[in-house]
Amino acid sequence: MSRLDSFINRMSAQRDILNHVRDVLDLPDGAVLEVGLGNGRTYSHLRENFSDRRVVAFDRQFAAHKTLAPAAGDFIEGEIRETGQTFVGTKAALVHADIGTGYADKDAITLQWLPDMVAGMLAEGGAAVSGLPLSHPQLEELPRLPSVEEGRYFYYRKT
Ligand code: SAM
Repeated sequence: MSRLDSFINRMSAQRDILNHVRDVLDLPDGAVLEVGLGNGRTYSHLRENFSDRRVVAFDRQFAAHKTLAPAAGDFIEGEIRETGQTFVGTKAALVHADIGTGYADKDAITLQWLPDMVAGMLAEGGAAVSGLPLSHPQLEELPRLPSVEEGRYFYYRKT
C-alpha cells in the first residue's frame, strides 16, 4: 500500500471512529483529551463534534494552525508521559491518542506507559480512540467498524 493510501486510511479511520463515538456511545460527563495535537486536524474535529465539552490538547509544542489555538489552560505543553499525569483521575469522557510513529521500537516505548495513562484519565464508561493498540484490563476493545481496516485504529470503553 502506498504511503498516500495509508495516510488516507488513517485519516478516514479517525473520522469514522470519532463520529461513531459521537453518534452511538453514550458518553459520561467530562472533558475530551487530545493526546498529540499535531497540526490540529483531529482537534478541530473534536471541537466541532463535541462542542459542549472542554477539549484539552497535549503536545511537546504548539504547531497547529493559529486559528486552532486552544483556550488558555487547554493546551498542555511538554512530554505527555509527564504532563498527562495531571489529568489522571480527572474522569474524562473521551481520550483520543494519536502519538504512534510507525516505528515499532519507538511505539513499544510509548506503549509502556500510554495504556495506563489513558485508562487513568477516563471516567467509567468513557471512550478511548487510539492509533496504537491499548492493552489494559480496564479498556474493553469495541468492535471494528466495517470502514476501518484491521489494525489501523482502535477504540475502547473503560469498564
Ligand atoms: N491527530 C493529529 C492531527 O490530526 O493533526 C496529529 C497528531 S501527530 C501524528 C502526533 C503529535 O503528537 C506530534 O505533534 C508529536 O509532537 C506529538 N507527540 C508524540 N509523542 C509525544 C509525547 N510523548 N509527548 C508529547 N508530544 C508527543
